[in-house]
Amino acid sequence: MRRPINRRFFMGTTAAASLSTLAIGASPPATVGSRRPTAVASGNGLRAVERAVELVKNGYDPLDAAVEGVAIVEADPADNSVGYGGLPNEDGVVELDGAVMHGPTHGGGSVASIRNIMHPAAVARLVMKRTRHCLIVGDGALRFARAHGFPEVDLLTDESRKIWLHWKETRDPNDDWVPPPEPEVADHVHEYIKKRVTGTIHCSVLDTHGDLGCTTTTSGLSWKIPGRVGDSPILGAGLYLDNEVGSAGSTGVGEANLLNLSSHLIVEAMRRGLTAKDAVMEALKRVAETSVRDPKRRRPDGKTTFNVSFYALAKDGTFAGGCMYPGGKMAVHDGDSARIVVLDPLYEK
Ligand code: ASP
Repeated sequence: MRRPINRRFFMGTTAAASLSTLAIGASPPATVGSRRPTAVASGNGLRAVERAVELVKNGYDPLDAAVEGVAIVEADPADNSVGYGGLPNEDGVVELDGAVMHGPTHGGGSVASIRNIMHPAAVARLVMKRTRHCLIVGDGALRFARAHGFPEVDLLTDESRKIWLHWKETRDPNDDWVPPPEPEVADHVHEYIKKRVTGTIHCSVLDTHGDLGCTTTTSGLSWKIPGRVGDSPILGAGLYLDNEVGSAGSTGVGEANLLNLSSHLIVEAMRRGLTAKDAVMEALKRVAETSVRDPKRRRPDGKTTFNVSFYALAKDGTFAGGCMYPGGKMAVHDGDSARIVVLDPLYEK
């Protein structure tokens, strides 16, 4: 059943994949309300927020809109932090994590370490809708996706394979893997090896009735230990919402979020009355404080060794994002137009 995807096949299936995620588990559109919709996403989510707002303006459920929005990025081989073309684990195998939450029902579902399925967010939505569970992992998640008709594909693109191979061949000068002569290695490949690649897409959507939905989907940390699960598919860590309060999500090194359940922290802070901006900054401070208690996560200057970014969307449509160190971005759609916003950092450097 597994088949490689070439560029032509990808182009041919983007529309089909798009339709199929709507078809596999999405609800038909309902009425359109009178409120202004809003969507926020991580910096790689400009197309996702555009699509999501277009869908909620046409009466789609906010979670279906979010899942459909991120499906564009999941299917894009050029984004090697998510879905098809995501960087693999240390064995060269792509393992994906994805989760969803639905405001009106306070439902949630997720899959972790799933292989060969391009759209983990849509599978997570079916875990929520068509099981009594919240989280299905590994081979069980793959079999569940198969049962619902998701096609199996080889998620490793030639580009991702070459980057992984270069990482493997340059890891240890004393092992038996030998890199090719320098001129044969494309310049950009070195960047991936110098700095470990992180990346994920989170998307939170407020629809025209004031209801929320959100999803987070990722290929996780590049070169991870097989079976490693990050924050993205863990409800409360990589995403969380309460339909009465707001929605939040995260990207970046997931372990710190797992240890602090940061998305839950952000939503609870908004429940206490903090603005989206203050809630995000409070969560960043908490992660910074707790993380540096572990020498593995503490730099010599006492700050964290890692970066994380948080995105928050309040029930009233206000939104904010923040990150540990400068460089983070988010995509926002305020109902009129989409744009990229630079995130405020907790630390300047
Ligand atoms: N948060 C993801 C993880 O830890 C990775 C990322 O966002 O870069 O799996």
